[in-house]
Amino acid sequence: DPRLQAISEAIRVVPHFPKPGIMFQDITTLLLDHKAFKDTVDIFIDRYRDMSISVVAGVEARGFMFGPSIALAIGAKFVPLRKPKKLPGEVISEDYELEYGTDRLEMHVGAVQSGERAVVVDDLVATGGTLSAAIKLLERAGAEVVECACVIGVPEMIKVKWKAIVYPCGASAIA
Ligand code: 5GP
Repeated sequence: DPRLQAISEAIRVVPHFPKPGIMFQDITTLLLDHKAFKDTVDIFIDRYRDMSISVVAGVEARGFMFGPSIALAIGAKFVPLRKPKKLPGEVISEDYELEYGTDRLEMHVGAVQSGERAVVVDDLVATGGTLSAAIKLLERAGAEVVECACVIGVPEMIKVKWKAIVYPCGASAIA
């Protein structure tokens, strides 16, 4: 895809953030570049337009920066998957492992109906632990997760053997 080089170049790589040894992929510079930002969203819109997707679920926080534009364009609803204690209504939650410790994602009960076809959106997949928690939440609500869509993937880190994680831009984890 001829758009991918400019998208990759618009993502700033910040060595040793937030900790020594981490190569942080900073998508805020992509958001500043109108063409690259629009091309990124359009790649996913083109992919999901005719797949009968009725749910785009975005992972807090950077999944919120790409997911709603995709949802609006393909005629789907947007469902935020949030960090603990942010959602005011009744929630279901899933814990997942981090490098040190655990974290949790929550989704409002009733946001998704049984049988709906969903795509999960985040900015980056590393181990895939976050996406796994997102998939479990949606599946517990009876949705079918058709695919996970991330802007960036770190292939050498992905541990989750899940059927479909797509990421147009690859990154290396080595600082
Ligand atoms: P995973 O659960 O796949 O190991 O980590 C992915 C999650 O961590 C995503 O929610 C993503 O936003 C965040 N993340 C980890 N490393 C980076 C990074 O280098 N850049 C950005 N933008 N997000 C990251």
